[in-house]
Amino acid sequence: MVVAHNLGFPRIGANRELKKAQESFWAGTISEAELIEVGRELRAKHWALQKNAGIAFAPVGDFAFYDHVLNVTALVGAVPPRHANASGSTADLKTYFSMARGDAGVPAQDMTKWFDTNYHYIVPEFADTTKFAIADESLFAQVSEALAAGLRPKPVLVGPFTYLYLGKEKSAGFARLSLLPALLEVYAAILDRLTLLGVEWVQLDEPALALDLTADKLELFASAYARLAKHGPKKLLATYFGDVSDHAALLKSLPVDGIHIDVVRAPAQLDSFLVDLPSTKVLSVGVVDGRNIWRNDIRASVALLQKASSSLGERLWVAPSCSLLHTPVDLANETKLDAEFRSWLAFSTQKLAEVSAIATALTSGEAAVASQLAESDAAVASRKSSVRVNNPEVRARIAQLPANSDARQSPYPVRAKAQAARLQLPRFPTTTIGSFPQTAEIRKARADFKKGTIPEALYVEKMKAEISLVVERQEAYGIDVFVHGEAERNDMVEYFGEQLAGFAFTENGWVQSYGSRCVKPPVIFGDVSRPKPMTVDWTTYAQSLTKKPMKGMLTGPVTVLQWSFVRVDIPRSETCLQLAVALRDEVADLEKAGIAVIQIDEPAIREGLPLRRKDYDAYLEWATRCFRVNASPVRDDTQIHTHMCYSEFNDILPAIAAMDADVITIETSRSDMELLTGFGTFAYPNDIGPGVYDIHSPRLPNLAEMLQLLEKAVAVIPAERLWVNPDCGLKTRKWPETENALTTMVAAARELRVKY
Ligand code: GLN
Ligand code: ZN
Repeated sequence: MVVAHNLGFPRIGANRELKKAQESFWAGTISEAELIEVGRELRAKHWALQKNAGIAFAPVGDFAFYDHVLNVTALVGAVPPRHANASGSTADLKTYFSMARGDAGVPAQDMTKWFDTNYHYIVPEFADTTKFAIADESLFAQVSEALAAGLRPKPVLVGPFTYLYLGKEKSAGFARLSLLPALLEVYAAILDRLTLLGVEWVQLDEPALALDLTADKLELFASAYARLAKHGPKKLLATYFGDVSDHAALLKSLPVDGIHIDVVRAPAQLDSFLVDLPSTKVLSVGVVDGRNIWRNDIRASVALLQKASSSLGERLWVAPSCSLLHTPVDLANETKLDAEFRSWLAFSTQKLAEVSAIATALTSGEAAVASQLAESDAAVASRKSSVRVNNPEVRARIAQLPANSDARQSPYPVRAKAQAARLQLPRFPTTTIGSFPQTAEIRKARADFKKGTIPEALYVEKMKAEISLVVERQEAYGIDVFVHGEAERNDMVEYFGEQLAGFAFTENGWVQSYGSRCVKPPVIFGDVSRPKPMTVDWTTYAQSLTKKPMKGMLTGPVTVLQWSFVRVDIPRSETCLQLAVALRDEVADLEKAGIAVIQIDEPAIREGLPLRRKDYDAYLEWATRCFRVNASPVRDDTQIHTHMCYSEFNDILPAIAAMDADVITIETSRSDMELLTGFGTFAYPNDIGPGVYDIHSPRLPNLAEMLQLLEKAVAVIPAERLWVNPDCGLKTRKWPETENALTTMVAAARELRVKY
């Protein structure tokens, strides 16, 4: 019998119960006991749901009050000294949340993206003084909880190699992987405890295997599993997010009892694992996409696994490609989707049924799942033929895109002269990144309009009033290039998605981004086009109020793509190009309406990078081309800006330069301008606005600090190409702070104009 199992279930709850409980606990409105109870209920519910779907084991350890990587930090006692409480104890929620969020002046641990997902984990900190010991009982308690419920628990833990690999070093001259032997002592002890509890299988997640690893790292990885060989229950070593066929021989030789591979991301690797798989090992194949919301093509999955099933029999396990953490909980909560579109989707709960149906079909033949198969076939057929998905006009337009549509008319130096003549800006021009404070009244007006409780005319009036206020204030602060403030935007991707064809929105399709923060990505299901202009009215209204140049403000194609659930029936690059063409028309319309400066935000360019270096170039090639297609329909004297939030740019500077924006604004104030050094060394050719005001913090920088940052900038970038601006949009700030910071910022620019 082919086994259906699951790598992990989303922890937030179908109605974001966890989020609500976390936030109530942090606000002091529920007790710790109440929070713990919500966790227990969610686990019980999710285990029952998995069992009822025919899933063989109950994953344990996928639940977390903040983050599953932080859970391991608590479990192995790798708590940074600043977070240990007075008694030195660390196994309590106070310490746990202090690591995650900081506490009374004690800074939180860093947070960063989990591989190429939008989930963020709490980065473990390691020093030469780090000592490991089992310091938290939650995992064992939860195993007992599952056993008491009559389930077969399969604990899921980030594997020791990935755990260390994802951490960062806090002491100099020390390599975190040198801690591996010590960490393995504790993993061995943890595994032994799980054996004592009666656990049959444990899942050790080693997604780091999908990254570029040098031979010595791989050796360490292998040595880790050799060290653990004699400990614990049977081990399933889980890889996901990429192709690990390079390491197939190594993985097959390890003393583990099963290997999980992701064949959604890397279907071709299946064969490398089928050949010579030792007869003692299980192969778990992730065939249902854990990263997206599309319904599985069950017939195709069964066909793909047929060979594996005949050769492995019950040693074949079927699973989602990775933990379901990255997909929403339950499609049943969507009440407003039309039947056709809905039939194309599967959320976590539905994905479990798919895994189970695939396993059943392999075991007992397709007739055993006739109705699921029929539904899946119907969905596949309707998606393939739907006119909502396939728009011949869009396809024709893309096919006929002129070869030069990804290039401006003239090179930057020529454009810069034309723009200088048109815009007449002072040196060190000042600008902001787009949004101004989003007050409660603005949010309410937007919400009321969406609900239909205020008429459109009143909504427009309110937004216009806000725009004129924002213009007036910028006038008063002495800013040089204005923005309209983005009051009408709830979210920089959703705003455009709602106006573009090919997009759909769910009511409840939440996925955890970090801690209690959840996002509800739009769904790009079809060819993308722009039925009508999206920002021109607001922008021209704003421009009509001032003589200063007003920036048109768009979200770029790569960022829209990156922050949405994307269709998988065509390559991402194609969807991105469709977005670029739709947004290109918006750029052209803004120019036609007299707008001289247009900003295309691309904060997600860097995070779209593939996991393996060998794939970087191909991605950067199409991503930067899409940006240029978006940006290039304009005359030389129209100035294109782009904005990126904090990113590691150094290894992709040629690609950033290849975007050929006239001006790029980036976050640098928190890194003390360090980031800019790379741009200087690389001799980045166009204008740059390094942020001088950290908009993430209520703390206000004074004139001296801003000047100091700008002096650092002048040292690496020629003065005539420097802009002065905040790090990012101001929507989360309050007006008084904004006023103070921007007034100081203008004063700083004025001082520089005198000096340089
Ligand atoms: N224009 C956007 C804003 O100011 C940019 C946001 C972002 O970079 N994340 O809000
Ligand atoms: Zn930003």
